[in-house]
Amino acid sequence: MQDIDLKQYIRGIPDFPKPGILFYDISTLLRNADAWQLATARMAHAVAPWQPDQLAAIESRGFLTAAPLSTRLGCGLIMLRKPGKLPGETISLTYDLEYGSDSLHIQADAIRPGQKVVVTDDLLATGGTLAASVALLRKAGANVVGASVLIELTALRGRDKLDIPVHTLLSYD
Ligand code: IMP
Repeated sequence: MQDIDLKQYIRGIPDFPKPGILFYDISTLLRNADAWQLATARMAHAVAPWQPDQLAAIESRGFLTAAPLSTRLGCGLIMLRKPGKLPGETISLTYDLEYGSDSLHIQADAIRPGQKVVVTDDLLATGGTLAASVALLRKAGANVVGASVLIELTALRGRDKLDIPVHTLLSYD
């Protein structure tokens, strides 16, 4: 299993969710027990040297990568969520999308000042979502030490928007 190319478990679905978009679907990786074990083990191995106190999970598929990573690394998990989902006082950040804008929230007391945080999501495309997440985490007092994603679409140069190290498990042009 160690030598397995995990790309064989990712499928590209054309014209989803809109015509012209090739959607990288991780469902086929998640449903294969051995491949998913290996993927999370490899991600955890790469993130471990950053020694995070917390993993920050971007709604919604970032929850899937954050949960196994945080238990493997023995650190906490913080949810970055869409509006109206988190109870109690929150801090938010609004960011631009190709058409329109979106917001992410974090609970105001989620992070102790200076805590080391690694942010995680399933996929890095243009980098807008991760860049907004890093800005929100900093607003909440975090020391963001890195980002970990399953898939990077390198041609979109999303990592150029980020001033932190990024580990990606699988890259596509
Ligand atoms: P970005 O902000 O352009 O980097 O887009 C990244 C966000 O969009 C992530 O939260 C992903 O979950 C989602 N996303 C964009 N393209 C795909 C895809 O092909 N498969 C799965 N998620 C995607």
